[in-house]
Amino acid sequence: AASYVGFDSITRQIEHKLLKRGFQFNVMVVGQTGLGKSTLINTLFASHLIDSKGRVEPDVAPRQTTEISALSHVIVENGVRLKLNIIDTPGYGDNVNNEGCWDPIVKYIKDQHSAYLRKELTAMRDRFIPDTRIHCCLFFINPTGHTLKPIDIVVLKKLAEVVNVVPVIAKSDSLTLEERLIFKQRIMAELQYNQIRLYPFDADELDEEELQLNERIRDMLPFAIVGSERNVIVDGKPVRGRKNRWGVINVEDERHCEFVYLRNFLTRTHLQDLIETTAQIHYETFRSKQLLALKE
Ligand code: GDP
Ligand code: MG
Repeated sequence: AASYVGFDSITRQIEHKLLKRGFQFNVMVVGQTGLGKSTLINTLFASHLIDSKGRVEPDVAPRQTTEISALSHVIVENGVRLKLNIIDTPGYGDNVNNEGCWDPIVKYIKDQHSAYLRKELTAMRDRFIPDTRIHCCLFFINPTGHTLKPIDIVVLKKLAEVVNVVPVIAKSDSLTLEERLIFKQRIMAELQYNQIRLYPFDADELDEEELQLNERIRDMLPFAIVGSERNVIVDGKPVRGRKNRWGVINVEDERHCEFVYLRNFLTRTHLQDLIETTAQIHYETFRSKQLLALKE
């Protein structure tokens, strides 16, 4: 039936505004050098955003530290504009002494919150503030098949306090499916034991369907992924894949790895929630702490 007052057109109005403005999505990758961070980013977003040699385009946003590099890229799909910021963090945990190696990463995340807060306090309230806050931190786990390293626990704990953390098992083609399953269970038990709170969170406002979706994601964590910047031929067709001793890994085949699940999660089901959770939970926590400190 036709609406009387007409406010039901608000969804179209919002959509139009949002589409025009586009979405800003900021993803950070954290983990040891060589775990396939750059490769995964390229696999996820198809084009060669970062080459795995670590060459990145000149910085677009002001940098606080020389170790962390951001790369901006605009992707357009069916008229929807996604501005993707990828923050690469080379070198974490590579040294003999890793004490404090997480500081620049955590600082970077907090600096973005701080910059946003400054703008929020000074700019006209309704003006659009560019959002550089990290919406998702992909944490790369070494596929040892054993346990997490103590330093991983420390870093995960620090990160989970300030950002949505999504753990992934890097280069999971080096594990058999059985090893992978056991490794996952072990990791999740360790995370739970150490009270590390991972994304997704079950907010009150979620409906039954969303809660179930979150449950399915939690059952799958950490995503066991494989990345590749190359195509290999499977059944006469080129697919993103890798050749190894056992044969060909098709990155997009769910029987081989969970890359597709990660991609669906990041871009199809949880993009907006990652952005909202960042604003409503992580940023809010930061903001109220800052404002309290100001009052004292
Ligand atoms: P980064 O230092 O974490 O950014 O790692 P890179 O993306 O530069 O990858 C390091 C090396 O690992 C490269 O030779 C990649 O081809 C390789 N690599 C990346 N992803 C995978 C993967 O999923 N499986 C395997 N076996 N090798 C990978
Ligand atoms: Mg890299």
